[in-house]
Amino acid sequence: MPAASAKTASPSAISKKFASLGLVQDFDFVLHLPLRYEDETALHRIDSLYPGQMAQVEGIVRKAQVIIRGRRQLTATIDDGSGQLALRWLNFYPSQIKAVEEGRLIRVRGEVRGGSFWGFEMVHPKVSRAGAPLSDSLTPVYPATEGLNQPQIRKAVNAALARVRLDDTLPVAVQHKYQLASFAESIQLLHNPPKQADTLALIEKTHPAWERIKFDELLAQQLAMSLARATRESKKAYAIQGGASGLMQRLLDQVGFTLTAAQERVCQEILADMQRPFPMQRLLQGDVGSGKTVVAAIAAAQAIDQGFQVAIMAPTEILAEQHFKKMSAWFEPLGVRSGWLAGSLTPKKKQQAAALVADGTTQLVVGTQALIQQHVTFAKLGLMVVDEQHRFGVGQRLSLARKGEQETVAPHQLSMSATPIPRTLAMTFFADLDVSVIDTLPPGRTPVITKLFADSRRDELLAHVDTVIRQGRQVYWVCPLVEESEALQLQTATDTFNRLQQELPQLRIGLLHGRLPTQEKTAIMSAFHEHALDLLVATTVIEVGVDVPNASLMIIEHAERFGLAQLHQLRGRVGRGQNESLCVLLYQTPLSSVATARLKAMYETQDGFEIARRDLEQRGPGEFLGMRQSGMALLRFADIDLDAPIAEQARETAQWLQATHPEAAAAHLQRWARQRADLLRI
Ligand code: ADP
Ligand code: MG
Repeated sequence: MPAASAKTASPSAISKKFASLGLVQDFDFVLHLPLRYEDETALHRIDSLYPGQMAQVEGIVRKAQVIIRGRRQLTATIDDGSGQLALRWLNFYPSQIKAVEEGRLIRVRGEVRGGSFWGFEMVHPKVSRAGAPLSDSLTPVYPATEGLNQPQIRKAVNAALARVRLDDTLPVAVQHKYQLASFAESIQLLHNPPKQADTLALIEKTHPAWERIKFDELLAQQLAMSLARATRESKKAYAIQGGASGLMQRLLDQVGFTLTAAQERVCQEILADMQRPFPMQRLLQGDVGSGKTVVAAIAAAQAIDQGFQVAIMAPTEILAEQHFKKMSAWFEPLGVRSGWLAGSLTPKKKQQAAALVADGTTQLVVGTQALIQQHVTFAKLGLMVVDEQHRFGVGQRLSLARKGEQETVAPHQLSMSATPIPRTLAMTFFADLDVSVIDTLPPGRTPVITKLFADSRRDELLAHVDTVIRQGRQVYWVCPLVEESEALQLQTATDTFNRLQQELPQLRIGLLHGRLPTQEKTAIMSAFHEHALDLLVATTVIEVGVDVPNASLMIIEHAERFGLAQLHQLRGRVGRGQNESLCVLLYQTPLSSVATARLKAMYETQDGFEIARRDLEQRGPGEFLGMRQSGMALLRFADIDLDAPIAEQARETAQWLQATHPEAAAAHLQRWARQRADLLRI
């Protein structure tokens, strides 16, 4: 290979680099928009500089020398008649020393810093020839990758711009309604901003050109979601009609309470979905303790009654086990065969359980993600219930979706979540799901009283723990969250456990944490359930769904370290029985203002939706939805926090466009198609 080719990358090598940035087709380049801009349109006077400014200055080099100040460095001073500016390089080549020879007129560009002995200085400024023509527009800086420089990218982008037609996909009516700039003008402006363009707005992405692009991106997301919905609705599922042998009624007699109006309503919504011949995809939201389990059981009864299998999946074994106990207690007496499938089973038992699922013997199977593993097949799966679905990782949710896709007839899917998503947010970002909400708690609950205790009142608290336990009730003691390290978290929990054993020797105390082998976890949970333990020291493993009605006191240590949603989930573990319950938030002073706001919210309200609203207010939707974690929509230009109003407009537009201009909707989606996978929730 000739030596020269190592320097100039071959066209195919460059294409590969571009491809690694996702740039293949012309339109990919068109939508490869600048990350930021540099302003090289003007020269600045030294006496007008301010710290932090990206500035460009021309002046005569007054002094240049290589000095050792800690390390070897090149320093110079330039003078433009209005003042002097210090320059400094920590790494430099001989050619750079030459470029700043005394007496030369040079142009430098860099960030202005304050505070040097000389006044302002620039560290590692870019030096160029003085008097060269100034650029007449802001210089875009593109997302790049190793081996591709800015001029190469700029050239490729402009070449693509010259080849494509930037037709507008939006009808004039839409552009008008939201006062949107045209697509072509926006794109041109963002790639080659004219001299007079509002620099700040361009940099801050508030320029109308950016607003248009963000609108388009969010619109594409909305369209992709409704396409996903349409695709799902074009798939086949078993239409599961109402009860043949009255299993559902017998179940209702069995559970021993009457459904609340809210439970009735969501049951109707779910049952109606299941009667349709395409797969249900419904999210059931309801606060902790609102009674989602029985709703899932009713849906299950309907499916089982028609000869279908039902799978119930939970994110942890503790929770799955609890569901299994509850479900089998309800269903076994009615003659329904239930099964248990989880990772902790021995391979042999797992195989046996899976075989019974495969041949249809097991009608109702409860378990963890072991249920969706490759080797598990169902004879006739009609309904899949996923509890606390947001707890499942992206990978698991994907494999669940794929499992459904592989079947010629997909099962109906009911997801349940106790993290209420405020309505506006749900409408915007969960548009491909149907949502049912249980908005009232079952009757007869005594509200949980919440108290805030500074850590210094611990002794007082211990006396109260003792009293509560003497009254025959049980107590949770939740240990602080240690985000940095699971090992440290375990250590704190163990310390607390040891300390409480010494302080309250008369009590039966258990310790539950995530690192315990599953069997032990389940054993401890069962012991607590059966009241063989009085007090359970636990990490946040109990956050999800644990149901022990006799527990009426919860103490959360270092409550200031928990998030609002998490505190609410934890508190939901008490107040499940007839007894008056208390939740004590122990905190350590001093409290940050954010922590104060959180604890105050916990003190002031128990309404899950109100808490969610405040949480959203405090953290913004991005954090709230745990975007990165949930794999939700990776938007490139729009910001889910800042651009919520645009998202709302995009949502309205998507509906209108599909109804009135389906061809424009299709064209728009097509344009943004490369991103479609990113635009979809999974
Ligand atoms: P979650 O929605 O948090 O999963 P659960 O389904 O565990 O709540 O229900 C919480 C408790 O409320 C359970 O003990 C359940 O048996 C009880 N429950 C549910 N619905 C009703 C009802 N309509 N009337 C009385 N108790 C109910
Ligand atoms: Mg639950």
